[in-house]
Amino acid sequence: MFEPQCPLCGNPVMSISLCSQCSGWLKTEPQNEHPWLASSYLFTDSAKLLLHSIKYQRHFERVKLLRTLLPSSLPLALDTKTVLIPVPLSPLRFFERGFNQSEWLATELGKKLNLKVETRALLKKGETKAQSTLSREDRKNNLVGAFEWNAKRPAPERVCIVDDVLTTGSTLEACRECLYKARVKEVFGWTLFKATTSVFDGRKNIQSSSSATIGEFPIDWYS
Ligand SMILES: [Zn+2]
Repeated sequence: MFEPQCPLCGNPVMSISLCSQCSGWLKTEPQNEHPWLASSYLFTDSAKLLLHSIKYQRHFERVKLLRTLLPSSLPLALDTKTVLIPVPLSPLRFFERGFNQSEWLATELGKKLNLKVETRALLKKGETKAQSTLSREDRKNNLVGAFEWNAKRPAPERVCIVDDVLTTGSTLEACRECLYKARVKEVFGWTLFKATTSVFDGRKNIQSSSSATIGEFPIDWYS
């Protein structure tokens, strides 16, 4: 008989889920400094492991777990007409990777919250440098003009941008700017995880209060 195991640590579990220990590490809801942004979980080591294994080792069966982590409401002033828009990948990056995890998250979240999802309206133009190699300031500059609105699509009134991990927020800010230019009236952002602990600055890790760091984790793929 197949005995379900926690995909992160291998502990036996009752159904497909993280064990209580691993989900315990994950469950803290981060604070938001920006009223337009919300994240559901801290980007803890177990969260990194989970996302990393889906991303790099292509453990797509674990995507089910991400689904169980999706919130049933967001602490943002969304209404029923809010459109969820995933942070896009450039065409080349999408081709290399074969999937966009933010698009998957937006699609699943849209089902759960009963909101429309628009995946071909916000586009990423060409290639930008990997965000992980850049300082906070350079991250912003790197993304100037990186996104564009597909003129064939009407601009919704209210949008919530969806991404997997929030680090400095530069990516979501660049997307928001593009949406405002496209005459979207109000823009929110939601990420599944939030890296609150340290900012990888390219040259040095700026540590803050918590113990976890994201320096060892390649962070370019979620930017
Ligand atoms: Zn576990």
